Amino acid sequence: MKTCKTVAEFRAARAALPALGVVPTMGFLHEGHLSLVRRAKAECGAAAVTIFVNPTQFAPHEDFSRYPRALARDLELVEAAGADLVFAPDVSEMYPEGYDLRIEVGGVTSRLEGAVRPAHFSGVATVVAKLLNITQASRAYFGQKDAQQCVVIRKLARDLNLPCEIVVCPTVREADGLAMSSRNAYLSPEQRERATVLYRALSAAKARHEAGQTRAEALRAAIHDVLAETPEAGVDYVSVADPDTLEELDEVKDGALVSLAVRFGPTRLIDNFLL
Ligand code: AMP
Repeated sequence: MKTCKTVAEFRAARAALPALGVVPTMGFLHEGHLSLVRRAKAECGAAAVTIFVNPTQFAPHEDFSRYPRALARDLELVEAAGADLVFAPDVSEMYPEGYDLRIEVGGVTSRLEGAVRPAHFSGVATVVAKLLNITQASRAYFGQKDAQQCVVIRKLARDLNLPCEIVVCPTVREADGLAMSSRNAYLSPEQRERATVLYRALSAAKARHEAGQTRAEALRAAIHDVLAETPEAGVDYVSVADPDTLEELDEVKDGALVSLAVRFGPTRLIDNFLL
């Protein structure tokens, strides 16, 4: 496995590989990330992982400076998962002096996460467009865990005619249902225990749907009922939406996206199910 810090180094190493799958990450890797690396390797023959905590997707009050970082450990993990190449640039390599471009994806970015984090998806779309250009990957792998991000990136690839297929992979969970996330490391042991409420709330909505409930408002209410049992959980939003447009639904349809964002102290967790 070769680790590159500059675009030039990466391009030189990439030239030796025909097809390449890429997994963009912010590092502090866990099994969720590694499942994407294994799939990229299996489907493309060669896998690249990018590790870059992207400052432009964090608002000034968010956790950019304290976001967990562990590059040496990450490199061991991705090598064991079969990665061929790693691109781990410094901020100045991605955004050198004079850099001045931002991509705005319209519509779907104004809802859910975008409503709470207004500049977030512009930062994500911009860095992903750059990473796909740098890596020249034929496929890029993302996790369903970040459902709205997947919608935004699919739109980015389509609207910019990027020659890269976007592949969305299932959410990997801890044994008690909590979706794996680098940010879980922020939780105290008590908060970690209580954080299973996200999974329990989504499961309650799914059970209602499977029992024949077709009113989206009833599913939102079922989620709020479960969340209310954990008063420490501050609810940012609960949504039952169209999986492509992210518009809130009145009547539930197959494939509907049920999602939520919950705060435990300063830590914000998101999760979702597709019905
Ligand atoms: P991040 O490092 O948080 O930016 O995540 C990098 C990629 O890994 C994104 O496509 C995420 O959606 C994906 N990812 C994060 N957590 C999980 C998980 N628990 N299961 C599957 N994919 C995940």
